[in-house]
Amino acid sequence: MPCDIFVTEATFALPMFRYPYRGSEIDRLLDTLHEFIVPGRTTPPNKEPTMPYTGSCHCGAVTFTIAADAPSEAMSCNCSHCSRKGLVLTFVPAGQFTLDSGADKLTDYQFYKHKITHRFCAICGTQSFAEGKSPDGPIRAINLRCVPEVDIDTLKINRVDGASF
Ligand SMILES: [Zn+2]
Repeated sequence: MPCDIFVTEATFALPMFRYPYRGSEIDRLLDTLHEFIVPGRTTPPNKEPTMPYTGSCHCGAVTFTIAADAPSEAMSCNCSHCSRKGLVLTFVPAGQFTLDSGADKLTDYQFYKHKITHRFCAICGTQSFAEGKSPDGPIRAINLRCVPEVDIDTLKINRVDGASF
């Protein structure tokens, strides 16, 4: 089974947003998500300035910038979709995401409840991000495999059993 429920109703209901949903599965997911979302929002007052990071598709047509520090943790999900694409994800409010190039090259893929728009490059096929909504606004799921400065092997990976949802 796909993890669309997870991505739309749990992932997008990040602790930074008010969360109207209930249910043991969702609560459990939020516990997992909380671990890797919270570090990004519990910034100490005297922290160094944010260092934006950039990502791209393989051919370079699609490029984007995230106005946040590169994460030290990420989510890996074993659902039918995430596993096939090898997605390693972090989630940011849409306001932190800027598409720098490639708007005319992006095409979409949706499945299950069609609440998530998976964006991929029509030239090279790379899915570098996805678009969705949280209860309080739009959000972007960033495929960290498309962010060169992030070393996937050094990330703390929070594994989500999306295949069971
Ligand atoms: Zn491309």
